[in-house]
Amino acid sequence: MGNPFTEVGSWPAPPPAGRGALWLGEGLASGILAGWATGSDWVALSAHGELAAHYGRPFIALPGGLMGFDDPGAILAVARQAHEAGAAWLAVPLAGPDESEGLPLALKLAELDPVLVAWGLPALAAPLLRRGWRELGRLGVAYDVPFALTQDCGCGACPTCAGRSRALVAAGVPR
Ligand SMILES: [Zn+2]
Repeated sequence: MGNPFTEVGSWPAPPPAGRGALWLGEGLASGILAGWATGSDWVALSAHGELAAHYGRPFIALPGGLMGFDDPGAILAVARQAHEAGAAWLAVPLAGPDESEGLPLALKLAELDPVLVAWGLPALAAPLLRRGWRELGRLGVAYDVPFALTQDCGCGACPTCAGRSRALVAAGVPR
C-alpha cells in the first residue's frame, strides 16, 4: 500500500486498505480522525475511550503515560499493541501547520515510520498533517464529530486551547 505517512496530502482520501488502528487522545484532531476512519476496519488504541465508544469500536486502553506521540518509546509501544491487534497501519492525530510543536513531531514520525515498517510493525498515517485549526473545525462538521466529547486542557491560554477556540468558531460550535 505504500507509505501512508507520505500520502497525507491527499485528504479526503479514504483510510489505507486493511485493518488499522487509531491512536486517539481527547482532542479535536482525535475526533476528526475517528470520523475519517468511520467505515474502515479500525480498532481504537486510546487512553480515553469516549470517542471509540461513540463510534462503537473496540477499544484498547493505553497505560498512563503512553499518550505522548512525541516519544519514540511510546510510539514503539503503541505500534506493538496495534500490531498485536492485527493493524496494518496506525494513524496519529497530528495536525499542522499552526499546531505548536507540529513540525518536530512530523519530522520525528517521518523518521520513525520506515523503521517501524522494517520491523514488521504498522506503518504510520497522519491524514491531518496539512490541516490547520480552522480547517479542523470545518472538517469536524463535515465528519459529524461529537465536539462535546473532545477537549482541550482547559487553561484557555495555551496554543492548543487557543487553536481549539479558533476551530470551534470556524465550525460555528459554541464552546
Ligand atoms: Zn490549554
